[in-house]
Amino acid sequence: ATTDPLTGLLNRRELNNQAHRMLLQTHRLNLELAMLVIDVDHFKRVNDVFGHATGDKVLQHVSTIISAGRRNEDVVARFGGEEFVLLLLNANNIDAARIAENIRMSIENTSMEGVNITISIGVASINKEKRDSFDSLFSRSDAALLEAKKSGRNKIVVSNNDQSISQLTI
Ligand code: GH3
Ligand code: MG
Ligand code: MG
Repeated sequence: ATTDPLTGLLNRRELNNQAHRMLLQTHRLNLELAMLVIDVDHFKRVNDVFGHATGDKVLQHVSTIISAGRRNEDVVARFGGEEFVLLLLNANNIDAARIAENIRMSIENTSMEGVNITISIGVASINKEKRDSFDSLFSRSDAALLEAKKSGRNKIVVSNNDQSISQLTI
């Protein structure tokens, strides 16, 4: 199987395949590639308060919102429980942060199954000089996500190519 049954998005294994393909293309054509790691804030509470079935429906709404602005060449996957990945072909940190902020706002402003949630997003893009691997891209997005969580959630944090991290200000 290549898709996640709940959301219809690509599953983690297929994300790895597609990411590999996108990264080869990115380096071959000297393009850029950006990654968003998106995690629902305090999702455990949604299950605790509204039940697991509502939690499932909320995840389906989240996946719809994340997919809404996707271009054909981009990849959206359910990475794990309430965590999603968006790979943007030929996008840099600035493009990615703008897209991330649109997603963050849409989620904040949408009531799903009567539930209001927020998300945190970690953003990173490949460093052309270093010919980054997917693992490097992923670990930098993940570190940015962790920082977004630590510094209050419902926000976007961008990993700069020099490994430093900055909060989004658009
Ligand atoms: P944080 O803001 O730090 O991300 O807190 P959190 O509660 O979102 O994170 P945590 O990792 O503690 O909890 C994630 C929860 O997501 C726990 C798990 O039960 C729930 N979850 C994972 N997969 C599914 C699913 O497929 N359906 C539902 N309803 N819940 C799920
Ligand atoms: Mg979470
Ligand atoms: Mg999580």
